[in-house]
Amino acid sequence: MNIGIVGGGQLARMLVLAGYSLGLQFQVLDPATDACVGQVAPLLQGEYDDQNRLNAMADWAEVVTFDFENVPSAAARILEEKVKVHPSSGVLWATQDRLYEKGLFWEMDIPTPVFATVDSLEELQEAIAKVNLPAVLKTRRLGYDGKGQQVLRTPEDIEPAWQALGSVPLLLEGFIPFEREVSVLAARGRTGEMAFYPLVENHHRGGILRLSRAPCPLPELEQEAWDYARRLLERLHYVGLLAIEFFVHEGRLIANEMAPRVHNSGHWTIEGAETSQFENHLRAIAGLPLGATTALGPCAMLNCIGSLPDRAAVLAVPGAHYHAYGKAPRPGRKVGHLTLRAKDHDALAEGLRRLLSLVGYSVEEFGPIC
Ligand code: AMP
Repeated sequence: MNIGIVGGGQLARMLVLAGYSLGLQFQVLDPATDACVGQVAPLLQGEYDDQNRLNAMADWAEVVTFDFENVPSAAARILEEKVKVHPSSGVLWATQDRLYEKGLFWEMDIPTPVFATVDSLEELQEAIAKVNLPAVLKTRRLGYDGKGQQVLRTPEDIEPAWQALGSVPLLLEGFIPFEREVSVLAARGRTGEMAFYPLVENHHRGGILRLSRAPCPLPELEQEAWDYARRLLERLHYVGLLAIEFFVHEGRLIANEMAPRVHNSGHWTIEGAETSQFENHLRAIAGLPLGATTALGPCAMLNCIGSLPDRAAVLAVPGAHYHAYGKAPRPGRKVGHLTLRAKDHDALAEGLRRLLSLVGYSVEEFGPIC
């Protein structure tokens, strides 16, 4: 079966690597000539809305999917005229704008931070009266890894934040003093079959995910997260893998955002789960039965940001696995990740301590981990 992927970063690359063993073939569209998926699959170099490229992909592929959600939804609609597209253009549209996304959470009875739209400095003042400080000002579109957002703690922060972000539509949301951040990954197949991964605990620094641990032993929250994921998958007639990120505040989940694709907080599943998120996304969109999502032991995933650690030193840690994305090192860029699967929590803690120091973190930096 031929699969088209729009977007050629590390997520596409890991999809391709998972898909070859299923007997799938790939073509990937990306504007960058050096997109890292090009090392493992044929790359169609072109803009995401390049009609000729989209038509060529639609003619070749039986299904088209995405490695990131900010593809113009018009491009997905062009593809939909000719070929199956999962997730659909409607899902992309709803998840590209934080306002629509939050509206969807509300419709599904999924708690979110209190929020207000902001299109002028006056509206920002009004929004602050509603949301209160501290608050987070975010661009409605195209924000990721903490980009396009500013925390407002005092009235002095208002003017600079407006200067920095005010040229585009914004959303102000209440700052959640969360106890922890978690995410859930869930897949839905073409027949409506669903599968839910164990809850993951995530640690961000500077808006970028650094460390994930799974399974996160909070069964009540896991049930709540699965219930929210089920509502969204069904409401959106979703096909593929969906990730939802939450804050845990006063013991309850508050939805932050969702991603209609495989997700960084699911990379541990490559070695840590019976079926990886990449394989399950492909199984879902290809109309194949979903695989079991059971964790094979306590796992951790560490992102390599800006540079890769010494490969031999990583592989000397029992249970550690090394994933390089084939990307040129650059400050702030995700260039790889490490996964660790251990036989018990003590072994995980010991291995994690060694891996953390290899990527330049200290255990203390992340505080107590569930
Ligand atoms: P986002 O791009 O919305 O996923 O935000 C990146 C990170 O910024 C989140 O994972 C949180 O650590 C932090 N953050 C975003 N929104 C809020 C909020 N409303 N309250 C507290 N922290 C936030």
